[in-house]
Amino acid sequence: MAKYKQLCVRCKRKYVPVTWKDRYPTCYDCQKSELSKDVKDKKLNRMFKIPEEFYIKNSFLRSVKINCLRYGELSDRQIETFKQTVKEMKKEAKEESKLAESENEISK
Ligand SMILES: [Zn+2]
Repeated sequence: MAKYKQLCVRCKRKYVPVTWKDRYPTCYDCQKSELSKDVKDKKLNRMFKIPEEFYIKNSFLRSVKINCLRYGELSDRQIETFKQTVKEMKKEAKEESKLAESENEISK
C-alpha cells in the first residue's frame, strides 16, 4: 500500500501518513480528545481498548473509533478490519521488541 504524507486538515501544522482513502487527514493530537471518549456499546468499547500508540501510529484505527462515536455503530466489515489491523500491529510490535532484544545480545 503506497503511503504519503499530507498536512493535517485541522491544525495545518502536522503531517499525517495517509493513503488515497483518507480524504480529510487529521493528526492524532487533533483527534485526541475525541478518541479518549468511551463508546456506548460495551462490546465495541472493549474492542477499542488498545494501546494508545496504536492510535498514534494508525489513522485508520482512529477513524473507525471516531465513526463509532459519531454514529454509534459500525459495519461488520469495519469491525473485522479493525481487529485485523490491531492483530497485525501487535505482531509487528512483538517482532520489533524481539529484534531489539537480539541487538542487545550482540552488543553485550
Ligand atoms: Zn492536526
